[in-house]
Amino acid sequence: MIPVVQPYLPARERVDAYINSIYESKWLTNNGPMVQLLTKRLASHLNVDADCLVLVSNGSLALQLAYKALELKGEVITTPFSFIATASTLSWEGLTPIFVDIDEDTWNIDPRLIEQAITPNTSAIVPVHVFGNPCDVASIQEIADKHQLKVIYDAAHCFDTQIDGESILKYGDISTLSFHATKLFHTVEGGAVITRTKSLADKVRRMINFGMDVDGVVTEVGTNSKMSEFHAAIGLAVLDDIEEIKQQRKQVWCHYERALVKIGLTQKRHERSNNNYSYFPLVLKSECEVLRVLTALSAQSIQARRYFYPSLDNIKTLVGESRCCNSRDVASRIICLPVWPGLSVGQVNNCVQCILDQLEITE
Ligand SMILES: *Cc1c(COP(=O)(O)O)cnc(C)c1O
Repeated sequence: MIPVVQPYLPARERVDAYINSIYESKWLTNNGPMVQLLTKRLASHLNVDADCLVLVSNGSLALQLAYKALELKGEVITTPFSFIATASTLSWEGLTPIFVDIDEDTWNIDPRLIEQAITPNTSAIVPVHVFGNPCDVASIQEIADKHQLKVIYDAAHCFDTQIDGESILKYGDISTLSFHATKLFHTVEGGAVITRTKSLADKVRRMINFGMDVDGVVTEVGTNSKMSEFHAAIGLAVLDDIEEIKQQRKQVWCHYERALVKIGLTQKRHERSNNNYSYFPLVLKSECEVLRVLTALSAQSIQARRYFYPSLDNIKTLVGESRCCNSRDVASRIICLPVWPGLSVGQVNNCVQCILDQLEITE
């Protein structure tokens, strides 16, 4: 069986070395040495200020903390073409997601459609850099400034993504990362909140620890969303291998690109950004074709994934009325192919051949 993602497991000896130091310190959670070290190393790797980076227990809580820290109210404009967590975290926090359609080429929220969705109840914009493809950050900030809205980027796909060599995480009031096991960099479960100002990061640091400041005095309403030392230890071991992980993903990605660019639509990527090769999405001609390809792949024990599907404006539990045609169209025709370090050339070839065989039937 070839899964669509295979979580990366670092060598046991290196994980054990980090775990041994936890056994020595007997410090298991509450901003211990592992979390402190991972914060420092990640900040330097991602080229952001360590004072503005807070590690948390997952990417969904990172989003919820961002909404709370910025005191969002009422309606929040977001994209329908994302993983469910972008919108469900809004609903969970009592906010109303207002979906604005995507650009049909970049698959990111279309800035030209944002202003018409703004009402007196709008408090923020939550765009997603889909598949690590940066949004039109300049246009979004311009709209936010004009209407005094907060901007929170769901940057769950953006480990090591830059524009003009600058980290994408520096845009907006807050950006959030997910370190779930299936992501490019992971801590099994985990995430991060990256703020523009240190004071906002300090507020998040209190919020993840029951609203308590460094002296244990409760200064605001908080919750518990701290990262544990064991999760940070896995993160440190994965980070040791990150260049090798990226190199192997790149090989798989480029192999697909060469073989499949002719048969499907790929994402129009930002010209001044790098690719972190976290996903290989392919948009086929029709939903019918998608279903046929998935069945054929599955018969060869290859798992591909309809991702993102369905378009979030189509999920009844989230909101009432809205209809985002571009998002529904892309969602109905997209599949993501297996991309992970360790996938062999033979396996990638099998996957490619199986897809080509299916599509030739209708040519
Ligand atoms: C993975 C992901 C999340 C959620 O992160 P978790 O760490 O799994 O909670 C949020 N948004 C997007 C776009 C994601 O891909």
